[in-house]
Amino acid sequence: MIPGPFTYHRPSRVSDAVSLLAALGDGARPLAGGHSLIPMMKLRMAAPEHLVDLGGIAELKGIAEDGGTVVIGAGVTIAELVRSDLLAAKLPVIRETALLIADPQVRYKGTLGGNVANGDPGNDMPALMQALGALYVLMGTTGERRVAARDFYRGAYDTTLAPGEIVGAIRIPVPPAGSGAAYEKLKRKIGDYATAAAAVVLTMYGDTVINCAIALTNVADRPLFAKAAGAEAVATALYPITVKRVAEAAMAITDPAADGRGPAEYRREMAGVVVARALLKAASRAKGA
Ligand SMILES: Cc1cc2nc3c(=O)[nH]c(=O)nc-3n(C[C@H](O)[C@H](O)[C@H](O)COP(=O)(O)OP(=O)(O)OC[C@H]3O[C@@H](n4cnc5c(N)ncnc54)[C@H](O)[C@@H]3O)c2cc1C
Repeated sequence: MIPGPFTYHRPSRVSDAVSLLAALGDGARPLAGGHSLIPMMKLRMAAPEHLVDLGGIAELKGIAEDGGTVVIGAGVTIAELVRSDLLAAKLPVIRETALLIADPQVRYKGTLGGNVANGDPGNDMPALMQALGALYVLMGTTGERRVAARDFYRGAYDTTLAPGEIVGAIRIPVPPAGSGAAYEKLKRKIGDYATAAAAVVLTMYGDTVINCAIALTNVADRPLFAKAAGAEAVATALYPITVKRVAEAAMAITDPAADGRGPAEYRREMAGVVVARALLKAASRAKGA
């Protein structure tokens, strides 16, 4: 299939990109790696009249530390996340998750900004960003604002991005000492989107969990921050009965679609399985931290 006609723009500054997007209105879309948008255009499920390519904007690149926060430019590719020494040292769960996305070809082109801005519930980074407590830096013609990943998603392909705004960067607090994190993804084959996946970030004092954040991928029309499930884990030593309660609390907020990945009941059940696995893996990492 061939996409409909469009005009291609390649600004070199964020200010020019957001001015273009604001001026061109609904008919314009930002283009990053193109590995979600171009397939949609080929299927004629998206038909933008203007593509504003963010790929030539140096301000959107780079991974840096700012105090206790890691700041990742929206234009950083998934492959660059895998290769980053800073992330390997400070937030290794990002590399773990990145390696579960698609295949090397997609990872070379796809960007973190595109992955979190897309609003596809099957994208893996949004749930991880919710569990890590990340903030998205949104850039528009009137300046910047920060929105928590936990507040960003409203439904399938529906986010709090205002017209003309882009995700410019992602700010991620480095978890304190004694923390562990894990991303567990069940998929049918290499390169597939999740049947269900879970991100867990927790902090332990000895054998006791003192903080726990859990989020889920592809078991609803948006990534789900499972607040009550995380709370079930706090002040416990994660005995099997607790792990079961946490998994059940997470399953309770899911609303999966029945599709080629299985019936809704199966996917809900699998959400509980990946939560339990991620919880135990994160705890063992926290104890070794
Ligand atoms: C075969 C295949 C398998 C895949 N498997 C997975 C998978 O398992 N897990 C997964 O998470 N993803 C998967 N993907 C998606 C891939 O990771 C995408 O590339 C990614 O989700 C979108 O990033 P992108 O840079 O390609 O964005 P694009 O395709 O360029 O853009 C996606 C959307 O986000 C908007 N956008 C892009 N950047 C910004 C920005 N900075 N600010 C505001 N809006 C922006 C665009 O306008 C568009 O609406 C797969 C893709 C393919 C082709």
